[in-house]
Amino acid sequence: MDQGWAEPTRDAGLKRLRAFVPQAGRAYAERRNYDLPGHENVSRLSPWLRHRLVTEEEVLGAVLAEHGRDAAGKFVDEVFWRSYFKGWLEMRPTVWGAYWGELVLAWDQVQSQSGLRERWEAACRGETGIDCADHWARELVETGYLHNHARMWFASIWIFTLRLPWALGADFFLRHLLDGDPASNTLSWRWVAGLQTPGKPYAATASNIARFTEGRFRPNGLVEEVRAVSGAPNPDPGPLPEGGRIDPGKRSVLLLHEDDLSPEWLFEAGLAPVATGVVDATGRMSILKASERVQAFKAGALADCVARHEERLGEVTDGLDNREAVMAWAEGHGAEQIVTSYPPVGPVQGLLRGAGGVPIVSPVRDWDARAWPHATKGFFKFRERIPDLLSASGF
Ligand SMILES: Cc1cc2nc3c(=O)[nH]c(=O)nc-3n(C[C@H](O)[C@H](O)[C@H](O)COP(=O)(O)OP(=O)(O)OC[C@H]3O[C@@H](n4cnc5c(N)ncnc54)[C@H](O)[C@@H]3O)c2cc1C
Repeated sequence: MDQGWAEPTRDAGLKRLRAFVPQAGRAYAERRNYDLPGHENVSRLSPWLRHRLVTEEEVLGAVLAEHGRDAAGKFVDEVFWRSYFKGWLEMRPTVWGAYWGELVLAWDQVQSQSGLRERWEAACRGETGIDCADHWARELVETGYLHNHARMWFASIWIFTLRLPWALGADFFLRHLLDGDPASNTLSWRWVAGLQTPGKPYAATASNIARFTEGRFRPNGLVEEVRAVSGAPNPDPGPLPEGGRIDPGKRSVLLLHEDDLSPEWLFEAGLAPVATGVVDATGRMSILKASERVQAFKAGALADCVARHEERLGEVTDGLDNREAVMAWAEGHGAEQIVTSYPPVGPVQGLLRGAGGVPIVSPVRDWDARAWPHATKGFFKFRERIPDLLSASGF
């Protein structure tokens, strides 16, 4: 996969979707677990899906039209993992806060313990001597992507063989993945560590790696007898956000952010903004700086969204990177409401949190509002609802 494989535009996402659709049926189910050069057997749609340059409904609509529910079942499940993780975290936002607590602690240790710092740097640079882990660290940094199986193996090696804090690994991913996502990333790392499904850590084994890389790697010395990382039990699910409704009679401004770059549904709900602000939350994703590749993807994706809707946006202001700036900008336009697609748990939600100022109205998309309430337990319980969720979307 070349370094410029993912252009941050909706057109590029739709092109990728069209190219992938023929393979999204049984071929995907049979070959999706193989981590092979070029990654032709998986969709690589995650950078566009994560930022909603292309939506879950659009992807599933195209795939189901070609293959039907039976043949596309595996792919459909995978797309719903994203919705499941978002709903799970939305009902337990303290898990995101706890991850940040772990990260700050681990970061302090990295700065005060030279041995830990050297091991962490070697793992991020791909210099551990474990050939597959080194390959994946470099692939991640060079392309902003890793295959799902490689993410699982890498996280397991990071935690159990290299004995590095899991939160530092999750942070390494968030700095470099073009699809870096608070819910999918945090909860997947927790799952590998044995925190998400308590007491059931994921062990990367040499034989599994050899099989699903078709013999490219057969690492020696992996710790395959693993014990779960200890941590607090999962919190009980709390209430989901109500989000609010747009009042078309009020003078409104629109706030665009990286979690939803397809704002058409807000216009359809009656929004006619006098001005539009663009949130920049890139600096809040990691304790360090996001990679240049990630920064460029997010900036490009936001610019693409603005360009697609230019006539409807009014005056556009970029780079709103804190709540005070958002409020000052909205007040400057005499706004009575700030409308924004509901930002799920993560940097944008954190940036907007606070009291006072112009009211923020953040409706929840129907897709999320229907799916999230079912993320109370494990994915397999959630999965039972997928046929109804598909029907509710008209598939
Ligand atoms: C440790 C770890 C960290 C991860 N971090 C992220 C992350 O930051 N952002 C992210 O989007 N995904 C993350 N994932 C999930 C998954 O690996 C990626 O979504 C997937 O590899 C993206 O590649 P693809 O588009 O080719 O997937 P495909 O196999 O083609 O799947 C199609 C779509 O389904 C969704 N999907 C597939 N598998 C998963 C999954 N396990 N969890 C959630 N959604 C899924 C994605 O939207 C994906 O684009 C992580 C997984 C692990 C094990």
